[in-house]
Amino acid sequence: MNLKRFFGDTILTTQVDAVLGWGRKYSLWPMPYGTACCAIEFMGTVSAAFDISRFGAEVVRFSPRQSDLLLVMGTINYKQAPVLKKIYEQMCEPKWVVAVGACAASGGFYNNYSVVQGIDEVIPVDVYVPGCPPRPEQIIDAVMKIQKKIDKGTLHVNP
Ligand code: SF4
Repeated sequence: MNLKRFFGDTILTTQVDAVLGWGRKYSLWPMPYGTACCAIEFMGTVSAAFDISRFGAEVVRFSPRQSDLLLVMGTINYKQAPVLKKIYEQMCEPKWVVAVGACAASGGFYNNYSVVQGIDEVIPVDVYVPGCPPRPEQIIDAVMKIQKKIDKGTLHVNP
């Protein structure tokens, strides 16, 4: 049955997935996992100058159970890797991960025995942000890329 034909513009037809995705993409709750200098850029990102609330992602949480967007910013060493993995596992589905900066994305210039050469050795990553450090606009760009992924319905499921 063609609902549009009978009801014209008086009703809105959509899918539950589309409505949920629309709600999710404008209500991300980020958790900053900052270990080094890149985390300072996140402070700028949530400040009035760059205002991440324009993208619905200003409700910063420091509990993985209350977050759906993990932003890893800084160097991760092998001793710390199990902690990062545990935090990721404690986040509820659906959840997304951004590797912010060269260190989180690839180990950066710390190419030695103790440093994880990219957090994707430990947890799945949705978006990589280049730079040392990246500017706040790049972090906002990563949030927008996550919003596009949510639009497409791309969800991570724990292995
Ligand atoms: S990428 Fe550069 S700015 Fe970011 S944590 Fe590493 S050394 Fe610091």
